[in-house]
Amino acid sequence: NDRMRIDKLLAHMGLGTRSEIKKAVKQGKVTVDGKAVKDSGLIVDPAKAEVAFEGEPVVYRDVVYFMLNKPQGIISATEDGRERTVIDLLEDDDKLRDPFPVGRLDKDTVGLLLLTNDGQLAHELLSPRKHVAKTYEALVHGEVGESDIRSFLAGVTLDDGYVTLPAELRVKDRERLGDTVRSYVSLTITEGKFHQVKRMFEAVGKKVLFLKRIAMGPLTLDESLPEGAYRELTEEEVELLR
Ligand code: URA
Repeated sequence: NDRMRIDKLLAHMGLGTRSEIKKAVKQGKVTVDGKAVKDSGLIVDPAKAEVAFEGEPVVYRDVVYFMLNKPQGIISATEDGRERTVIDLLEDDDKLRDPFPVGRLDKDTVGLLLLTNDGQLAHELLSPRKHVAKTYEALVHGEVGESDIRSFLAGVTLDDGYVTLPAELRVKDRERLGDTVRSYVSLTITEGKFHQVKRMFEAVGKKVLFLKRIAMGPLTLDESLPEGAYRELTEEEVELLR
């Protein structure tokens, strides 16, 4: 098992930022095996040390958070009989930590996908009551305009009768090729119905040709990640999510 600094361990477990934890150590609020810790750089074995924060035992979980730039042709599941999954894109060491995708992107959708083994955080990000914002960039067949912007703001009726919550649509650019027009747009929604973005455009008579997620809650896709690549979230990013 990996030995680590006590401040890192406590930050990892969501007990505060590194500086908040330094302060707590100074105030004698952190104990290891019953003794107050004096140095927030103390190295401990999280599997063996009995750590307590303000008298409460800290149960160590090896949580991990990855940001993946999902490519096309891969499904957002942990296992599938036939298809390649996002887990197949991970290094073996990272697979061992049992991360799973937080929510789903369609097989042909690219972009930001968070992978974690932190069930509680995943649950909160996916909870319909939390209305976590998700922003997509899309290439849409047809001329997206003011009336679509107003419709999306008011809510559109999907094929199953569901009326969507207010969504913010922005038109970035249009491209004309002979008779056809394509629009580059971005769309922010705060819910996650099945194929929601594609079905919202269908509701206004337009087809999504390409879809990429660029943000989820406070997390934005690191554009330096090529499609198919991933990296661990920084401590700051994990804090933003909590
Ligand atoms: N909306 C969709 O239609 N597809 C996705 O993959 C994500 C949101």
